[in-house]
Amino acid sequence: MQILVTGGTGYIGSHACVELLRAGYEVVIADNLSNSSAAVLERIERIAGRAPVFYKLDVRDAEGLRLLLKRHPVKAAIHFAGVKAVAESVADPLKYYDNNVNGSLALFTAMRAAGVKHMVFSSSATVYGAQAVSPIGEQAVTAPVNPYGRTKLMIEEILRDLCIADPEFRAVALRYFNPVGAHASGLIGEAPQGTPNNLMPYICQVAAGKLPELQVFGKDYPTPDGTAVRDYIHVMDLAQGHLQALDYLERAPGFSAINLGTGRGTSVLEILQTFERVNQITIPHRMAARRPGDTAVTYADPRLAAELFGWHAALGLADMCRDAWRWQRQNPDAYA
Ligand code: NAD
Ligand code: UDP
Repeated sequence: MQILVTGGTGYIGSHACVELLRAGYEVVIADNLSNSSAAVLERIERIAGRAPVFYKLDVRDAEGLRLLLKRHPVKAAIHFAGVKAVAESVADPLKYYDNNVNGSLALFTAMRAAGVKHMVFSSSATVYGAQAVSPIGEQAVTAPVNPYGRTKLMIEEILRDLCIADPEFRAVALRYFNPVGAHASGLIGEAPQGTPNNLMPYICQVAAGKLPELQVFGKDYPTPDGTAVRDYIHVMDLAQGHLQALDYLERAPGFSAINLGTGRGTSVLEILQTFERVNQITIPHRMAARRPGDTAVTYADPRLAAELFGWHAALGLADMCRDAWRWQRQNPDAYA
């Protein structure tokens, strides 16, 4: 069975491609390489023992998509392609609406023309906004607070409408919490351009001596140790969730939005201490002011994914820290 994976050379997409190939799927990647490297393709093949088919293609390229889907009779699409930096989305909202929303519209239009009826979409816990009370269930109010989050919610709504208009069209939007870690081989991982914004890649670069110290944003949150709490999820668990969502689509009509998180909250200091302990390395750090826009506590209620398709996060914080550091150590310059 062939699966189209948009954004398949990116961080989460590359891990999902490995799992798809290992599960026996034929994988067709469409990625414009705007935030990834073609070098990941050979790594995917080394791990999975089989290569994905690759097209350097922007999902806004309607004709390119049409030709791809003509050549590859895919059963379903997993749609990772998009831009994802919150601060950049505030500064340049048009880039986000164009890339994410127009890109999705072009993809869904091409799928309709080719008769492709199953879609797994990369959504985000950011659709819940700042007021949601943790654990956050899927029925929580959606109120994203930045353009990036609004693009994710708009795409979900478009999918919901498509499922109503065509009873054969089915879609699952997976709302990821905080993906971290890397494949245990150390061959693929997260490759942020420039200074990372996210906690785990930042810690890795401090550990590698590329950055002098970690700033812990906020020490006076109403949490046990005063630092902010998030739901970190290993990227391999996330990848596995996509395979189970694909299976679920075989038996589930309509649209569903489903959280992928562990259901466990971890503070910044806990992640720092776990990283130091499992990797036997000291991370210079200092307490700093809160980062504007951050919530105190955000973690998932992950029960729906368990109920609907039997998915649970299997890997813990120690695995996340060990695998993230292995990837960083073995690839100081990512795929360069
Ligand atoms: P990533 O940037 O590593 O991967 C995205 C991939 O999409 C990249 O390879 C990029 O080159 C490609 N791409 C971007 N725009 C494209 C376009 N118009 N046409 C074709 N390819 C395009 O990001 P990621 O962390 O792997 O995220 C994957 C998806 O998951 C994104 O949609 C993101 O919004 C979503 N998500 C990520 C996180 C996170 O923390 N990493 C959390 C929630 C949701
Ligand atoms: N964080 C931090 N220092 C950093 C980066 C992040 O203390 O250099 C904190 C951030 O304030 C948040 C948590 O780590 O509480 C996770 O941040 P990240 O940007 O990784 O994900 P977010 O939850 O904001 O999407």
